[in-house]
Amino acid sequence: MVLVPSALNKTTPRLLVESFFAVDSSLAEWIRVIRRHLHQYPELAYQEEKTCQYICDRLSEIGIKNVKKVSPTGIIADLGRRDDGPCVCLRGDMDGLPLTERTGLPFSSKNPGCMHACSHDGHMAMLLGGALLLKKLDLRGKVRLLFQPAEESGNGAQKMIEQGCLEGVGAIFSGHIDTHHKTGLITVDEGVICAFADPFIIRVTGRSGHAARPHEAADALVAAASLVTTLQTLVSREKDPNHAAVVTIGRIQAGDSHNIIAQEAILEGTVRSTHKQTRLQTLNGLKRIVDSLAVMYGVETFLEFKHGLPAVNNSPLATGIAHRAACSVIGKEHVLSQGPSSLGGEDFAFYQQKIEGCMVRFGAQFADDTDDIGPAHSDNFDFDEAVLPIGAAWYGTVAWEYLHSQAR
Ligand SMILES: [Zn+2]
Ligand SMILES: [Zn+2]
Repeated sequence: MVLVPSALNKTTPRLLVESFFAVDSSLAEWIRVIRRHLHQYPELAYQEEKTCQYICDRLSEIGIKNVKKVSPTGIIADLGRRDDGPCVCLRGDMDGLPLTERTGLPFSSKNPGCMHACSHDGHMAMLLGGALLLKKLDLRGKVRLLFQPAEESGNGAQKMIEQGCLEGVGAIFSGHIDTHHKTGLITVDEGVICAFADPFIIRVTGRSGHAARPHEAADALVAAASLVTTLQTLVSREKDPNHAAVVTIGRIQAGDSHNIIAQEAILEGTVRSTHKQTRLQTLNGLKRIVDSLAVMYGVETFLEFKHGLPAVNNSPLATGIAHRAACSVIGKEHVLSQGPSSLGGEDFAFYQQKIEGCMVRFGAQFADDTDDIGPAHSDNFDFDEAVLPIGAAWYGTVAWEYLHSQAR
């Protein structure tokens, strides 16, 4: 049977999705079972071997044959027979986080020290659901499914791109579950929705000595402590207050004993910003402050930038299609703006450096009182599974809409 997304009725979000699945009432349950399985067996970045195999098995179960594993743990799967038509990518991320789950859910992680606390289990399940919907359509081109490892480590997307996942592709779409918004809402925004994310390490080297005789030493720890507070002036005193930025030091390591002046301090942190100019200004300021610290405290300093993430910047063309798809899945009154850009990073941005792309957010907040549920990246994170069929329907519809927009 051929499913046509535009044939959906405009009713409430839940009903709309139910009508989409009326063709196969077991689909929502199939997606939920997949999410729960993946939730129980999370794997860290670049270790997603079992996850990869499980997804390949599900793809084979629904008859998708054109499946290629991408080193080390990614998957590219193509749907549609027409080689002469347009091609659109749908991307889901695969990795868990280094947390030990304490939600108490019956399907909690069975891998201590690893948890799907950023809903990537849900993203994979929704994408498989979308694939099953698309499998029933007579496609006017190709749909390429990308299951991407290592989103959290920030360079899984680059690895997929290096291995040719975007060759011949016109646009890419993805969505992230978001418990800040109610289930049944989708946020779609043109422009920047996630920040530039630039991690850094600062090494401060002094001279050790007796804790009682500081005049014989150069205290790396005192210099580092001063650095932590001084860096905050980058945000409060140097950038345009109308442009968002964050400087966070998340880790300090210094010293060996209470009676030894620390020879070395290592600080790890991140700069987040949503405008190119703010990014440049903040990074330049960081260099300047780190250099002057050496002079102020008679220590040596070394600043190391890691590869930062560009901002997720939704293109006008892709955003228009993503918006249309969201409206046909849940009705336009349930399609909103997320408001100001998040200061979070997302490596989906790397795909958008190459081709048109749009990332949306799927609301997944529980309707009832959920004080015991934590935010994303916490060990008691969970989301409302009612989002799963909505996301699957959006994936299916956005691909359909893109192929039709190109074939017009
Ligand atoms: Zn995350
Ligand atoms: Zn995530």
